[in-house]
Amino acid sequence: MDHFLYRDGVLHAEDVPVPEIAAAVGTPFYLYSAATLIRHYRLFDEGLDGLPHLVCFAMKSNSNQAVIKLLGDLGAGMDVVSGGEYARARAAGVPGERIVFSGVGKTREEMRLALEGGVRQVNLESEPEMAVLSEVAVSLGVTVPVTVRVNPDVDAKTHEKIATGKSENKFGIPISRAREVYAEAAALPGLDVIGVDVHIGSQLTDLAPFEEAYKLVGALTEQLRADGHDIRRLDLGGGLGIPYERSNSAPPLPTEFCDLIKRTVGHLGCEIEIEPGRLISGNAGILVSRVVYVKEGEGRNFLILDSAMNDLIRPSMYSSFHEIVAVAEPAPGVEMAPFDVVGPVCESGDTFAKERPMPPVAAGDLVAFRSAGAYGAVMSSEYNTRPLIPEVLVQGDQFAVIRPRPTFDEIINRDIIPEWL
Ligand SMILES: *Cc1c(COP(=O)(O)O)cnc(C)c1O
Repeated sequence: MDHFLYRDGVLHAEDVPVPEIAAAVGTPFYLYSAATLIRHYRLFDEGLDGLPHLVCFAMKSNSNQAVIKLLGDLGAGMDVVSGGEYARARAAGVPGERIVFSGVGKTREEMRLALEGGVRQVNLESEPEMAVLSEVAVSLGVTVPVTVRVNPDVDAKTHEKIATGKSENKFGIPISRAREVYAEAAALPGLDVIGVDVHIGSQLTDLAPFEEAYKLVGALTEQLRADGHDIRRLDLGGGLGIPYERSNSAPPLPTEFCDLIKRTVGHLGCEIEIEPGRLISGNAGILVSRVVYVKEGEGRNFLILDSAMNDLIRPSMYSSFHEIVAVAEPAPGVEMAPFDVVGPVCESGDTFAKERPMPPVAAGDLVAFRSAGAYGAVMSSEYNTRPLIPEVLVQGDQFAVIRPRPTFDEIINRDIIPEWL
């Protein structure tokens, strides 16, 4: 459920007509709904009622300062995967004790940044990383709470590029070696081993892989306790999928996900952390774009938009589906016709959809990509010297640009021509 609905024949974001924002900001742009972000965060937070818990928003899905501040002010924690994300979380006012540092290749500099600024815990992913974190902590004279990310070798049944919980993936340590690795971690100075971490992938549309993974984590927790470790926190990762295609069967709801957590690990008396990204931000955002040309090809018709793969890379990168709707509501029963929906970038990969049934649209009309709030703006680039597109946040009847479109000069002036040229 989201807050992008037709009203009086026009797509609205909460109470604001989308064309009004397009007129003020220009196209293309990302548009986020505060009410949707809040609602999704609360579904998880309330779903875990009864267990001590912290919902840590996976910032890599959408790291705009306004989005982070909105969620941080509700009490959300943040899951960060780089020094840059750590800095962003702090800049948006999130205290260190609510920031979890994940990621498979944290550098010394990133560790130092987090340890100096304060961090809730660091999720360790390998023995070499463990040794380095210990050195950094000792050099700063601090003790850092850590978990070890275990790889449970379960098949998340998702796109291969976003599956992370199989033994062939680069993430975590094999669960079969966990007891050995925990013993090593406990022996290192500067580390306080407090919990277990798992994250098996993204866009999961079935609870079964989560159930399998969480049961393994539960059993491991009991073993580790028997080995003498004071395991008191479980970080269960993110990954719950969203319905990109509304006609398809719906993925499980956050409440069902939370009930599964209670059922599988609720008896252990641990504090629970989860790290949802996509489910909080995905359906809270759309990408609004304008049709530049309607081109009739041989046997194929094309809608050429002013947005491209550099603005939204998911279709090219993951072959993912985004619903594309006309901002002016089509008349009931209107005839749909198939179009290839494409951007202007000089690559055939710059295709959002092939033979997509679309209502009649003309050059100059607005269209919107639904479910574009996660892994959209954050993955965008300036390929073809197309400026990063603005991000806009709506709340009720107000909207604000939360990242402006850079000018060509701003882009060009980042380059430096050496004196000797
Ligand atoms: C990407 C990631 C998440 C968030 O995944 P979603 O599918 O967006 O919920 C959570 N935790 C870690 C460690 C991640 O890498």
